Amino acid sequence: MLSVISKASIAAAFVVTVAWSPVPNTIRADAQPADYFQFPLPSWEPHCLGFGSEWRYCNGTVLRRCSGSGAVWLHTGVDIKTEIQPVMAAANGVIIGYIVDPTFRGGVLIRHETPDGVVITQYWHVWPRAGYSVGTVVTRGEVFADIADMGSRTHFHFAVFNGEYDSHTWNGALPPARCDGFPAFPYNFVDPTAFVQAHLEPAPPKVVHHGGHGPQEVDT
Ligand SMILES: [Zn+2]
Repeated sequence: MLSVISKASIAAAFVVTVAWSPVPNTIRADAQPADYFQFPLPSWEPHCLGFGSEWRYCNGTVLRRCSGSGAVWLHTGVDIKTEIQPVMAAANGVIIGYIVDPTFRGGVLIRHETPDGVVITQYWHVWPRAGYSVGTVVTRGEVFADIADMGSRTHFHFAVFNGEYDSHTWNGALPPARCDGFPAFPYNFVDPTAFVQAHLEPAPPKVVHHGGHGPQEVDT
């Protein structure tokens, strides 16, 4: 029975997604370019599912299969252990989507303009803070949401979508081969942990202090 309810909720999320598609006027010209990225939480410890894991609850229950082949869908993001705490924007950008799913709670999309093109970060199981909605400009590290309470299933889901928004940008999973109208994993999704690590702000130059001479760059 639980799996039936879950499938219904997921299907509902996809329907809601279409109704909440962002419109061009949510792409704000005053957002700063996304020069660097950071992790949205202060610690980054994996939960049950990584990028490309079969989409199952921690107890192994499958969340979704292709109707014909029975193939289990694959997770487009990474799940992170967390308590209920603030969630930060991964980079400068604009909130372009917010949906609520009865099972997965709130989902948020933030659109970033990077030197390599548009990137959209996806945050699931979060509640936006007051004053944050579609069209809000955010800067890297700005707290815009809090982790949602899902009881023993509380965790954070984060994904990175390389490209402009389409209806699949919301997906928390995709089939291993095209089915039921959905493209095959990974589609435009990339490993989110590897992406952030590759786009972190470089550490500032190390300085050493000599008595009375002030900071001096280490020559290494
Ligand atoms: Zn997830």
